[in-house]
Formats: sequence, structure tokens, C-alpha cells
Amino acid sequence: MSMDAHGEEEGSTAQQLKKNLRSGNTVKRRAKKDENPGSDDKLKSEPYSNRKTKKRETASNSQAQNTEDLATEMKADRFHPQSTDGKDGSISQVQKKQVPDEDKVKRRRRKDDNVSSGEISKSAPDKKQKSKKRETTKKAQKTNTDTTTDVKPETDEFRNQTSERKKIVNKPQNDTTKKVEEEVAEAAPKHLHLSLSSHKYVGAHVSIQGGLWNAAIEAKRMGARAFGLFLRSQRTWNSKLLEDEAAEKFRRTCDELGFESRYILPHSPYLMNLGSPKPDVFQKSRAMLVEELNRCQKLGLTLYNIHPGSHIGEMPVGKCLELIADGINHAHSQVPGVTVVLENMSCQGSTVGGRFEELRGIIDHIKDKSRIGVCLDTCHAFAAGHNLSEKTGLQRMLDEFNKIVGLSYLKAVHLNDSKGKVGCRLDRHENIGRGHIGVEGFRKVMNEPRFNEIPMILETPASTTSRHALH
Ligand SMILES: [Zn+2]
Ligand SMILES: [Zn+2]
Repeated sequence: MSMDAHGEEEGSTAQQLKKNLRSGNTVKRRAKKDENPGSDDKLKSEPYSNRKTKKRETASNSQAQNTEDLATEMKADRFHPQSTDGKDGSISQVQKKQVPDEDKVKRRRRKDDNVSSGEISKSAPDKKQKSKKRETTKKAQKTNTDTTTDVKPETDEFRNQTSERKKIVNKPQNDTTKKVEEEVAEAAPKHLHLSLSSHKYVGAHVSIQGGLWNAAIEAKRMGARAFGLFLRSQRTWNSKLLEDEAAEKFRRTCDELGFESRYILPHSPYLMNLGSPKPDVFQKSRAMLVEELNRCQKLGLTLYNIHPGSHIGEMPVGKCLELIADGINHAHSQVPGVTVVLENMSCQGSTVGGRFEELRGIIDHIKDKSRIGVCLDTCHAFAAGHNLSEKTGLQRMLDEFNKIVGLSYLKAVHLNDSKGKVGCRLDRHENIGRGHIGVEGFRKVMNEPRFNEIPMILETPASTTSRHALH
């Protein structure tokens, strides 16, 4: 996620964005939770409301739907960004308003569920997902029907299908993941079935509220095959130690839900600036990268996405690139097994990494080139001048990328539309299909074979109007 923000100079920009996006209270709430991954305060309630919905959703079945559907849907209402701000909370509130009979549903579910743990996140996103699913199902059921109508009542046919699906879920699992699997099976998102045979691993940046493992659960619930997450609070230098138990739970959950580490892309905190001319920020950033890679290792993760850095106008670009590479080399020497993924930036302000030459400049100084990669953010690329809205824009960009950086370094994609026009240099995400890249631009992205078998992470908040954008 992105939005801008590299500690120093861009911090203010990020904050402004945040302000625009949501209220301060929400942010605080979320930040607290991020630092307290172990707390179960979310257990509260809402979670099961969705299950009922899911049953309904069971609907038709695994008919073909393409990757575009998946992307569209996830972005549409399942995805909720928590990156720059505690959007989760706000979404949750909105969601409550939108699901009037939720209490009823909850009560009912509680009866038949002896869910032990509270580990299953009942966060807002679920509701959101569900209502989305509801609409999706509906759509599936009634071709050419307006999606705004509400859910179809359960039928015998539905129930039969549901029990069929339950049979399919037979992997030995713990209670939590088993339940999630069952929920997913019941929901039978058509896109999920289709996605299983696709080469596209689409997912979203998900919340770690209530515990890192909840990210995997949330991703699974939305039918994602990949996901992005923060490993800690993204706005503070200090963070709580990652407990062994939490790490183990995360690994187990990912394993049971079928998420391989190569499709999980953690994102660095925005404060990190490995190329900072300011000694304190520079040192803290280097230490943070080591700490984060240690976290990855403990969590069984093998990729780690960073914004390269910023020279804040006080250092030549070349020197900044060298410092960034040096910070990565240092972290590599301290922690084995994790590949650092450089995210291309939008050329905003004094950030580096907006030009492919700059990414190359960093890579050139990396000692172990098997542990460095690139994540292409579509919004950033567009803002940096790659016109993905044009017919051949994507091809041209990838050709250039291959020539300058090399496709072998391409490890991931961030899916975001752009509020700004091509070449605007502004890091302003927009919902997919609603920005200047547009539906056709993303259609090409989703059909691009060079993006096969790598995580494609939606970072932009969704809106219902974009749901059908890619269809
Ligand atoms: Zn991004
Ligand atoms: Zn980012």
C-alpha cells in the first residue's frame, strides 16, 4: 500500500491522505491493534453474521469466471485497505449500518457454532465481504439482474450444494482454519473455483487486526490466492516483539489455508528510508529492515516489499541508491532466506525507484542478486509515465522493464488505479477501473502472462461501482 510516505518528507503527505480518508479515531484504534496482534478484542461479535449469508451464496457453482472477475470482486467490496489508516474500523461501522439483520444472524449462528476461539476475525471486512458475496451470488443466480437487490432466500438446492461442499473439505486442520475452509466452501465463490486453475494469484492487502494469522483467514474468506499485509504497526519505529506462539499460529494458518509464502507479500512500514541523508532515520531504517526480515523468517515468509527510499533533496540520487543497496546487503548478511522486493514508485518528490533505471541502480549494488526483486505498482508506474491506459502501454512498460531491470526480478504486482493522469508523479491510488488507467488498462494487466504465478495485490479501497468494471 502505498500511498506515499517515507517517513521524513512524505510523512506529511501520507497523513494528509489519511485525513482525507478517514477519522483520526479510527486510525488510533487501528494502530493500537496492530501493535497488539495477540489481543482478541475483536472477538466481540459480528463474525458469524456472514456465515448465513455464505450459505445463501453457495449458489450455483464452479462455473467459469475469469481472473478479472476475481480481481473485480475483491476490489469491489472485499478489499479494505488498512494501509494508511485504520480504514478497517470505519468500514466496519459502515458495514454495520448496511447489515440490519445482523444481530439476528449472529444469535442464530452462535447457537450452532461452538467456535472456541475468537480467533476467527469478525472484523468489518467480513461483513463487507459477505455483503459483497451476497451480491455476487445474486448476480450469478439472476443473470442480467440488478445487483442491488438483496439476497435470495435459501432453497433446498442451496442446502444440498452446501452439504456437498462440506464433504470436500477434509484436510486435517485445527478448528479455526477448518471453519474458515468450511465457510469458504459454503460460500463457494465462483471466482475461487475458477481461480484455482488460473495462473493469476490475485489477492488484497489485508488486516492483521487481532493477530497476524487473521490476515490469512481474511484473505481466504475473500477467495484470495495471495495477500499482502503489514507485519507490525506501520507508523511507529518501535513494535512489540513477535511472540513465538503468534508466529507459529500464522505459519500454521497459512499452511492449512493453502497460502504458500511466495504468494504472501508483507509490506514495510512507511517510516523506513534506507537512503535517508538523516543519520538517525538512516540507522533506524537499517535496523528496522533487519528486524522485519527476522520477522519474515520467523513467520516462514520469503518476500518482503519495501519502498526504496528518498533522498529528501539532500543527496545525489546515485548516492541514495547506494545507501539503499547497502542497507539491503546489511540485512541480507544478518538474516538468510528472505528476498527484498523493491516497489517502483511514482517519482513523487524526492523518492527514488520511480524510474526503472533507479531500481536497476539499486540492484546493481546488491551482492546476493538471488535475494532481490521488484514489485510493480500499476498506479505508481502510471504516475511515473507508463501509460497503461493505452493499448500497448503495458507491453511497452514491460519491455522497458525487461531491458533495464530484467523480468527475472519481477516478483509481484500491486494493483491500483490512479487518481492522477499519466506522468503526474503523484502517488494517489484510485479504485480499479475508476481512475485514469481504466478498465481496459486493467483488462490487459489481468491477461498479461508475464504476471503469471506471482502475487497480484489489490491495495485500493473498493467501491461498489467498480465491481463490474472488469467484466
Ligand atoms: Zn503499492
Ligand atoms: Zn507500497
